[in-house]
Amino acid sequence: MNAAYIYLQLYRLFDKSTPIQADCGRLCGKACCKGDDCGMFLFPGERQVYSLLNPDWIKIESTDFSYTYNNKTYYTPIAMCTSECDRYQRPLACRIFPLTPYTDKDGRLEVIIDPRAKGICPLAKGLYLEDFDRSFVNNVTKAFRLLMKNKHFAAFMTEYSAYLDEFRRFFNN
Ligand code: SF4
Ligand code: SF4
Repeated sequence: MNAAYIYLQLYRLFDKSTPIQADCGRLCGKACCKGDDCGMFLFPGERQVYSLLNPDWIKIESTDFSYTYNNKTYYTPIAMCTSECDRYQRPLACRIFPLTPYTDKDGRLEVIIDPRAKGICPLAKGLYLEDFDRSFVNNVTKAFRLLMKNKHFAAFMTEYSAYLDEFRRFFNN
């Protein structure tokens, strides 16, 4: 089974499932889709989705954010939308925003409010996790429990969680 197929299946969990049972974009004018330096990390293997679909509204670049798996260093790609996206093709990070996966020091998966979202998203600023739509939180958990079964993905999560810790310290959460 290839990674693109897995991500395309996971995307479907979020076709109708949203952070709250209302159009939160009305609260903020879709702040998470604006901003000149707006971009979303693609999770390990997710780039294959865009090699397959090749949409004209996305630009993918490499970042300095790296992790090691099996003695090999991987650089995480970032996706930037150059125009309005096709909702059914948007990356996983956009679908789960403003939540994100996090692993603790024992490698246990949690779903948290993304500390990077605190500066732009009224939901991230004003809500606790329990205030989000329960089925949305469950879908995020389900998606990342499945991805975490892959050792390469788990290696990414260790580094990604350390990266999130820097933001958590800053926002004191
Ligand atoms: S910034 Fe937050 S509230 Fe605004 S559209 Fe994005 S997820 Fe919804
Ligand atoms: S890909 Fe779509 S959902 Fe994601 S930031 Fe761009 S416009 Fe927003």
